[in-house]
Amino acid sequence: MADFDAIVCGGGSNGLAAAIRLAEAGWSVCLLEANDDLGGAARTIESTLPGFRHDFGAAFFPLVAPSPSIVGQDLAPYGVRFVHAPLPAAHPFPGNQAIALGRSAAETAASIDKVHLGDGAAWFALDEAFGAVMKHFLRAQMQRWPLQELAKVIGRLRISGGLEFARIVVSGVNAVADRFESDQAKAFLTGPAMHADLQPEEPGTGVYALLLTMLGQRHGMPVVEGGTGMITAGLAAKAREDGVEIVTGRRVDRIVVERGRAVGVEAGGEALSARRAVIGALEVGALVRLAGPESFPPRALAEIRYFRPGLGTFKVDWALDGQVPWAAEECRRAGVVHVGDTPTEMSRSAWEAAHGLLPAKPTLILGQQSLADPSRAPAGKHTLWGYAHVPASPTGDAGRPRARAAGWDRSAEPFLDRMEAGIEAHAPGFRDHILARRAWTPADLEGADASLAGGDIQAGSFAIDQQLFFRPGPSWWRWGTPVKGLYLAGASAPPGAGVHGACGDLAARQALADHDRPRLLALAGAGALGVGALAARRRRR
Ligand SMILES: Cc1cc2nc3c(=O)[nH]c(=O)nc-3n(C[C@H](O)[C@H](O)[C@H](O)COP(=O)(O)OP(=O)(O)OC[C@H]3O[C@@H](n4cnc5c(N)ncnc54)[C@H](O)[C@@H]3O)c2cc1C
Repeated sequence: MADFDAIVCGGGSNGLAAAIRLAEAGWSVCLLEANDDLGGAARTIESTLPGFRHDFGAAFFPLVAPSPSIVGQDLAPYGVRFVHAPLPAAHPFPGNQAIALGRSAAETAASIDKVHLGDGAAWFALDEAFGAVMKHFLRAQMQRWPLQELAKVIGRLRISGGLEFARIVVSGVNAVADRFESDQAKAFLTGPAMHADLQPEEPGTGVYALLLTMLGQRHGMPVVEGGTGMITAGLAAKAREDGVEIVTGRRVDRIVVERGRAVGVEAGGEALSARRAVIGALEVGALVRLAGPESFPPRALAEIRYFRPGLGTFKVDWALDGQVPWAAEECRRAGVVHVGDTPTEMSRSAWEAAHGLLPAKPTLILGQQSLADPSRAPAGKHTLWGYAHVPASPTGDAGRPRARAAGWDRSAEPFLDRMEAGIEAHAPGFRDHILARRAWTPADLEGADASLAGGDIQAGSFAIDQQLFFRPGPSWWRWGTPVKGLYLAGASAPPGAGVHGACGDLAARQALADHDRPRLLALAGAGALGVGALAARRRRR
C-alpha cells in the first residue's frame, strides 16, 4: 500500500495550495484529482471555438493583490501575470448612461456625478471612511490568527468609526446604498454584492460590496494573462517542484477512518495510507459522504445538514467577432460589467432565484477578459464571460408565470435568450457579434467539477451566519473536523470562495500545528522537568 504523510483529495486551487504548504514543511504528499486536468473552477478552456480561451469558473482577482495568499504572493516566478482592462468595472443604465469604477475615488466619484450630481460626494465619504481598512479586513480573514489585522482595522477607525463599520458588516447593501440619492448610484453599489448568492437586503452584502469596490478601485479587477488556468499551472509546477506526487483522473471513493482518525483513502481500487493527515479540498457535503456520516458526532452532522448551499449558477461563454457594442463608452473599457437596471430589479432577480424561480430579468455579472488580455481570442475577436444566479432545480419561471416548471434541458435555451436580451438592451446589435456560445447549467457545472454541487460556486452560501467561525459549523473549528487527522480545505471552510488558495493554505497550517503541538508540549514538559531537576540538585548542594 502506498504510504504518505498526507493525502490531499481534490486538485483545485485549494488542494494545490494545501499540498504545497505541507510539502514545504517536509511532508510527503500525494494529491488525487478526479478530473483528467487539475484546477477545478480555476481552469481555462476552449469551450466555444478554437483560439477562444474561456475561464470555466473564476476570472477576476481583485482580492488577490492585497491578500497574503499563496496565489497573490508566490506565483510570479511561475509565469502568473495579472493584467487589467482600462477600467475595473462599469454598470450601464437605460438612456446610454453608465457609472464606472475607476482607479481612484476621484475618478469613480466623477463618473457617479455625471449621472447624478451630488452622489459623487457620498462616494468620497464612503471611500474616506472605509476604503483604507478593507485591505486589513480582507487580510484578517485569510490568516489563522487575525488579531493583528483586526487591530489595524480598529486602530484606523477608532471607536465611532469601528461601530459604524460593525453596522455595515451586519447591513444589507441596500442600507449602505441609501447614502446615495439616485437609483443609478444605488444600483452601482449593489452590482458587486450580486456576485454572492444573496439578496441585497441580507446582512453581509453591504460589506461585501464595499470590499469589492474599494479593493477594485485600489488594485483593479485583474485577470490572468493566458487565463485563470495559468494559476493552476503555476500552483501545479510549484507543487511538483516541492515534491508533491500529483495523480489526475483518480477520484477518491472513500476516506478511511479507523478509531476516530483518518488514516488513508481508497481511490480507483487502490488504498493509500496517510500517516499524519487527510486533507479534503472539497465541498463539505462530499467530505462527509466520503468519510461516512457514522464517523462524525451527531452535532457536527446536524451542522452540515443545516449548512445552506449557495444558489445555482447559469454560466455562459461567448465567442464574439468584435467587442460588445455597449452604448455607454465606459462599459466598452471595463473588465467587469454588472447588468441590472435598478436596485429593485436586482433584488427581485435574487428573490426569485432564492424562491425556486428562474428570474424574469436576471442580474448579470459579465467579464470582458479579452480587453485586458488579447491572447484570449484570435486577432480582432473577443470573448465574453457571464453568469446569473438561478435555482439549482427551478420549480417555476418568473418570466412565464403560467408555464409549468421545466427541467434545465428545456429551460436552458430560453434562459440564455433572456440573458442575451439583457445585454442587447444596453448593447444594441450584440447578438450579431456572436460567433458561438456555450451555456453551462448548474448540472453542467457540477458535471465538470463535482465540488460545484447544484451549480453552487461558493461551496456553501455566503450568508453572514455561515462565515468565519460558523463556516461550515462551530464543531468544524477552523479547518479541522471532528475526525482526528481529517481537515477541510475546500471553500466550505473560511475564508470561503475565491481562487486565493487560502482555505487550503490555512488547513495545511492547521494540520502542521496539530502535528507539532504534542511534540512542542513534550519538549516544554521535558524542559520543565530539566529545570526542576536542576533546581532540586542545587537545593541538595
Ligand atoms: C462560474 C464561476 C465564477 C467564479 N468567479 C470567480 C472569480 O471571478 N474570482 C474568484 O476568485 N473566484 C471565482 N469563483 C469561485 C472559485 O472558482 C472557487 O471558489 C474556487 O475555485 C474553489 O477552489 P477549490 O479548490 O476549493 O475547489 P474547486 O476549484 O471546485 O476544485 C475542487 C476539485 O476537486 C475535485 N474533486 C471533487 N471530488 C473529488 C473526489 N472525490 N476525488 C478527487 N477529486 C475530487 C474536482 O474535480 C475539482 O478539481 C467562480 C466560480 C465559478 C464556478
